[in-house]
This record gives sequence, C-alpha cells and structure tokens, in this order.
Amino acid sequence: AKHKGRNNFQCYDQELTRHVSAKLSLGASLRYACVNHELQLYYQPKVQLKDGRVVGVEALLRWWHPVLGMLTPDRFISIAEETGLIVEIGEWVLKTACQAAVDFNRNATAPFKVAVNLSCRQFLQNDLAATIEAILKTTGCRGEWLECEITESLMIEDNPQVAKTLEALRSLGITIAIDDFGTGYSALNYLSRFPIDVLKIDRSFINHIDTDPCKVGLVKVFIALGTNLEMQIVAEGVETVSESASLQKLGCGLAQGYLFGKPQPFKALMATLSL
Ligand code: C2E
Ligand code: CA
Ligand code: CA
Ligand code: CA
Repeated sequence: AKHKGRNNFQCYDQELTRHVSAKLSLGASLRYACVNHELQLYYQPKVQLKDGRVVGVEALLRWWHPVLGMLTPDRFISIAEETGLIVEIGEWVLKTACQAAVDFNRNATAPFKVAVNLSCRQFLQNDLAATIEAILKTTGCRGEWLECEITESLMIEDNPQVAKTLEALRSLGITIAIDDFGTGYSALNYLSRFPIDVLKIDRSFINHIDTDPCKVGLVKVFIALGTNLEMQIVAEGVETVSESASLQKLGCGLAQGYLFGKPQPFKALMATLSL
C-alpha cells in the first residue's frame, strides 16, 4: 500500500510539475503574444429576440500560440491577470474592438455596439477612463458604439475608484453591462448604486430553460429586476430554438449564443451581416 501511495504521489507530483511549468511557459510566451501579433478578436453576434436582428457583438479574445494552436481565454486570462500582462493585452483588445466598431458602424442605421470584457485588475488602474477616451479619439470610435462588460466581483470591491471610473465611462456615452449575472453570490445593492445599463444572465440559467421550471422561475425574477431598473436584458448561451422561444415568452429582449452565431473573425461575421 505504501508503495502504491508513493506512486500515486509521484504521479500527482509529475502532473503538478507539468501543470505549473505549462503555466510558466505560457506566461513567458504570452509576454510576446501582443508584439508578435498572435492575438485575435473573435466576434459573437447579439440579437434582438423579437425579430432576430443583430444589434451588436461581443469581442472574445483568441491566442494563436505558435506551437499549441488556437487557445481560448480560459487557458490564459488568469495567467495574464496574475502577471499583470492583462493591462497591455486589455488595451490591445480595446483598441482593436474600437477599430472594428468603426467598421461595423460605417453603414449602420442604428448604433451597432461592440462589447468588450474588462477584468478587475485592468479596471482598478486609476486611468482606465482616460485610456479609453484616448483610444476612442485615435480610432474615431464613438462612445455609443462601445460597451464594457464587467463582473459582479468588481462591484463588491468597495473601491471608490470603481464608481468614479464607471461614471466617467458613462459620460463618454459608453454603456456598462454586468456579465455572468446570477453567479456572483453577492448582495444586489450594487445594482442601484452603480450606473449599469445591461444585465447579462449567465448561461447556466439559460441552458435547458425550456424544460426546467426552476430556471424559468429564476430568470423571470432576473428579468423583472433588470427591467424595473431600466436595464436591457441579455440571455447568454442560447443554443436551441426552444430555449429562445421560452426566453422571448418571458420578455427577454436580447440574446447571444451558438443558435444565433458562434464567435468568429471580423471578416467572416461581417460577410453574414446586412449592415
Ligand atoms: P464570457 O464573457 O461569459 O463569454 C461568453 C463565453 O461563452 C465565450 O467563451 C463564448 O464563446 C461562449 N459561448 C457563447 N455562446 C455560447 C453557447 O451558446 N454555448 C456555449 N457552451 N458557450 C457559448 P470564450 O470565448 O471561451 O471566453 C471565455 C471567457 O473569457 C469569457 O466569458 C470572458 O470572461 C473571458 N474573456 C474573453 N475575452 C476576453 C478579453 O478580451 N478580456 C478579458 N479580460 N476576458 C475575456
Ligand atoms: Ca462577457
Ligand atoms: Ca458571460
Ligand atoms: Ca465569464
């Protein structure tokens, strides 16, 4: 038994070493990802449920690693956050998304929004609003074309900087969305204390909503809550026609998910849109 135990430990140890060194080497190569043009933004359509019209997109980061191929954010965002690289990467994301917003809006009749994910770390630098203002200026992007997605964890930071930055972004015409709503285990008072325009209901509540009365109950409450606070509601991760129908019946305005389109490169998406 002792022998086996040691083997198990060794196995675990090797696993751990592999995991840690994989992380370390990813961190090292991530440092060059920006300058080597290995980062790319994919765009996922956001649609109006009543008529299926695409009213905007969410920008989602992809990393073309020279050896490992395409990596999704779950593989590297936490490393970017731990190493502080997220600040530089985040600025690249903002700049690229704003450039895309200019192109998306070239022939648009109503403001076509590009939503960008901001991590806490990035948000807590004191000059984020100034950085974004400068990016708007150099790219020619209007504030109304940009949406910033943040998570509930940022709201409970209880940092006066957060409210200040949100107000500053708002005054630039930028809208603020709460991402992954319902998963944060936090009190809800932040919803009235901060200038929030959009509630994005997490995919875990949307998945199988067509057959799960419990999820219907929760989503009903989320929609009522957001609507009463004059927020737009976005359902995340809609995959089936039946889920979409259930959401429309509940009065959900907007949706995102594989049913309407997977994240894809700018050109590929642009070709499918009638803008
Ligand atoms: P998120 O902001 O909640 O983004 C939604 C995720 O769900 C995306 O994963 C998207 O590809 C996926 N998704 C969309 N529709 C469906 C669906 O119908 N079914 C399923 N199963 N999945 C769907 P992705 O692109 O891998 O991104 C994961 C997370 O990484 C994002 O979650 C976001 O938190 C983070 N992220 C992505 N881009 C950035 C970025 O530029 N900066 C930062 N800080 N975080 C980012
Ligand atoms: Ca998001
Ligand atoms: Ca989300
Ligand atoms: Ca997320």
